[in-house]
Amino acid sequence: MTIDERPSNYQNKLLCYVLKGLKPYRRASLFMGMFAALPVALALPVDALQVKVTPSKPDLGDTLSVIINLENAGNGSNPTVTNGEKTYPAFEIAPNQYRAFVPTTPLERAGNRTLRVSGDGQEESLSVQVSDRTFPVQRINLPSGKAGVDATEYELKRVAAFKALITPEKYWNGAFVKPNGGRVSTIYGVRRYYNGKFAKDYYHRGVDYAGAEGSPVVAPAAGRVALVGRVSQGFRIHGNVVGIDHGQGVTSIFMHLSRINVKEGDMVQAGQVIGAVGSTGAATGPHLHWGLYVNGQSVDPTPWRTPGVE
Ligand SMILES: [Zn+2]
Repeated sequence: MTIDERPSNYQNKLLCYVLKGLKPYRRASLFMGMFAALPVALALPVDALQVKVTPSKPDLGDTLSVIINLENAGNGSNPTVTNGEKTYPAFEIAPNQYRAFVPTTPLERAGNRTLRVSGDGQEESLSVQVSDRTFPVQRINLPSGKAGVDATEYELKRVAAFKALITPEKYWNGAFVKPNGGRVSTIYGVRRYYNGKFAKDYYHRGVDYAGAEGSPVVAPAAGRVALVGRVSQGFRIHGNVVGIDHGQGVTSIFMHLSRINVKEGDMVQAGQVIGAVGSTGAATGPHLHWGLYVNGQSVDPTPWRTPGVE
């Protein structure tokens, strides 16, 4: 068992990791104490991978940023981060520095995750403690026999393809802005009971803004418009919808729009109007649903607004 696999709280974990990175130097000073006359330039081993995870105390719904520093970058493929069955790509964000995003969701269990980081022919494991979070609960009663509207195969296929996008370019820059001026009416992660039965696969996959019908919807961050869908094409649940690819596995979806101002392939800037609030698709009244996806999973957009993710 390496020091990194030892279950401990996350602060200790990070400390251990830093210590681990320093170990060769501590060894060096001991060595030099014993053989002070030897030249300092002895080829001492240095860990090739240095890994840091933020935020330092994540909760379910947070996006884990895994930052990897390589000693010898440029000899082949980018590092990867594996969490359980899933492997996430890392992209270069500075010279010799890479980052992978690991999403967490309300459907997961709180507790320890072991992240395996591979890069530069080396592998490191580190454990991250993800804390539980209490999500609000809604109780919905549907009259018997009224199952609601089903999505069409076409919209499911288009939306799934959009959420699977992993583009190496990074289009966003700094903290995301509010996509609409309305108040937040439903936060991320709300769980539901339908007719008294807990919907174990359901959670509110985004944030709702109670903007007035026709009020502007703006891009919260720069990106490429990678999805435009309309009710007339069969977007029965999403309604008129826009999807923005922010790059590096980060995508935003905007649902129930009354108007769409962009087309697929457009590059948009943060704050640029992309459409207007409406109640198209499966919506009981006008509101904007903004879903933020990281490597295909719906995460809480809130930390992407404050403090933001560089
Ligand atoms: Zn919503």
